[in-house]
Amino acid sequence: AMPLVTAISTSLAAKNGLLIRNRTAFERARKVTMVIFDKTGTLTAGDFGVKTYKSLLEEFTDEDVLKLTAAVEQKSEHPIATGIMKKAKEEELDFSEANDYENITGEGVKASVDGRQVMVVSPGYLKKHKLEVSSEIKEEGVETLVFLLVDDSVAGYLKLADEVRDSSQTAVSALQKASIKVLMATGDNEAAAKAVSGELGLDGYHAEVLPEDKQAIIKAAQEKGEVVVMTGDGVNDAPALAQADIGVAIGSGTDVAAETADIVLVNSDPTDLSAMIAFGKATYQKMI
Ligand code: ADP
Ligand code: MG
Repeated sequence: AMPLVTAISTSLAAKNGLLIRNRTAFERARKVTMVIFDKTGTLTAGDFGVKTYKSLLEEFTDEDVLKLTAAVEQKSEHPIATGIMKKAKEEELDFSEANDYENITGEGVKASVDGRQVMVVSPGYLKKHKLEVSSEIKEEGVETLVFLLVDDSVAGYLKLADEVRDSSQTAVSALQKASIKVLMATGDNEAAAKAVSGELGLDGYHAEVLPEDKQAIIKAAQEKGEVVVMTGDGVNDAPALAQADIGVAIGSGTDVAAETADIVLVNSDPTDLSAMIAFGKATYQKMI
């Protein structure tokens, strides 16, 4: 039979925006010492607006840059893609079909458009492949910067802005009050990570991390005795969600994240997570 505490907590959970997929993991809530959040779509709303789009090659106009980017992003479900498609629609742009679409997890997207290889990628991807751009093109504040590559040449860039969820601040403060360390691991650039971390007063962050790095960060913390909750929304978060003692997916995120997670935050509200951990601790104290 189901222990009484579990029965009560499961029904309370449903009322409080939590979908429990793995009850054993849920019962670990009272032991949690560290929460690691993904940034984009998790601490931030993932509701991107395109602020700038610029060509870096004579061959293309600024509008061509947005068109080529949209051609590839029409196939992606990343929040960046949603923001770009919104802009392309506003500008009433006609863009081409994309073929052979590929998602380069945590780094960008790639497809064939009008017979050319078109990619939209992170600054980290450029660094890794030793592709140079003017040092004037850099991230500022919470902005996310992505580059358009056409046949392996840097053809342009776009800047997008996202906003921290109001509920993230409440959740972070509540967790810290309960003596839980709160960190962030993001595939996004250093400047954006630093801005969000500063705004929320996090205990630390990791920027420009690939999906396997997110997993490794959790594993290293566990080896030091931490009991870790990972919270994320993306396909790229799945390995980390699986590694964590409790994997938590944001409801508005991808199906892959939800299917890997132990718990889903149905209302995409990070305070439901902090409340769950506080509840887990309180329930346990009542028992002893
Ligand atoms: P986070 O960990 O913050 O959720 P992701 O790992 O999903 O971020 O993405 C990391 C980076 O990879 C993004 O900041 C972006 O530079 C790049 N990227 C991922 N998906 C896309 C996409 N569909 N279009 C353009 N860039 C992308
Ligand atoms: Mg994300």
